[in-house]
Amino acid sequence: MTIMFNKHPLLLPADRPSHERVWFSHLDAGYPGRPVLHQLTASITGLAMTALVGPNGSGKSTLLGVLAGVIDATSGQLHYAEGRPPAFVPQRGAVGDTLPLTARQTVEMGRWGERGLWRRLTRQDRTVVDSAMERLGIADLGARQLGELSGGQRQRVLIAQGLAQQSDLLLLDEPTTGLDPEARERITALLTDLVADGTTVVQATHDLEAARSADACLLLSDGRLAGQGSPEKVLTPAALSGIRQPG
Ligand code: ADP
Repeated sequence: MTIMFNKHPLLLPADRPSHERVWFSHLDAGYPGRPVLHQLTASITGLAMTALVGPNGSGKSTLLGVLAGVIDATSGQLHYAEGRPPAFVPQRGAVGDTLPLTARQTVEMGRWGERGLWRRLTRQDRTVVDSAMERLGIADLGARQLGELSGGQRQRVLIAQGLAQQSDLLLLDEPTTGLDPEARERITALLTDLVADGTTVVQATHDLEAARSADACLLLSDGRLAGQGSPEKVLTPAALSGIRQPG
C-alpha cells in the first residue's frame, strides 16, 4: 500500500528490493504549527530489528506515529509491503496507569481492531490473548490492575497488547526506558525472538544495548535523517554523545 501526501507525488521505483517492509520518501510531518520531520527518506528492512535513535525531541515518536498511521504526514510518500496493519505499542507514560483496567483487559484491547469495540471477543480472540500473555510471562497477572504493576510488568502488558494484534510489523516507543537492567534485557531478548519468528520490529530507544543489538539503526537529528545502516556504522561517538544527551 502506498500513501501519498501533498506536494511530493514522486514515484518510487517499482522494483524496490523485496526485503523492505516499509519505505518512505521526502516525508514531512508534525503537529499543528510545529513541523517536526523534514524530508525523511529511509526504509525499514523486513524480518529485522530496527532501532530508531536520536536525541530527545529529534522526532522518533513522531516518526513511529506516522508509520503507525496515527499521525498524517504533511507531504511525501509512505509505502508498506504487503502485510497486516502495524501494531503500535506507545510509550508507557502515554498510557494512563490509573485507568481502571486489569492487565488482561488491556491485552484484550489488542483485539478491538479485529473485533470492533462493542462485539464480544470470540474463543479465538481469547486464545490469541492467552498466548500473547504467556509469551510475555504475564499469564498470572491477568486480574491485577494496571496501576498495581511494576514498570517492567506494565511494559510487558503493553507489548502483549501489541502481539494480540497479530501483526507482522510491531512498532514500539521506548519499550525499555525507565526499566531496571534485568527487565530491559528480558524485553530486548523477547523482541529479538519475535524477529526470529517472522516479525519486523521497529523500536525508538535510548537504550544503547538495545540499539547495538539491532540489525539496523535509523538516526534522527532535529527531524532529519542523520544516519542509516548497521549499528557499528551509525552509532559513532558523535552520534552517541547526542543520544546520551540528558533530558
Ligand atoms: P522524540 O521521540 O525523539 O523525543 P518527538 O517526536 O516526541 O521526539 O518530538 C519531536 C518534537 O515534536 C519535539 O519538539 C516535541 O516537543 C514536539 N511534539 C511532540 N508531540 C507533540 C504534540 N502532540 N504537539 C506538539 N508538539 C509535539
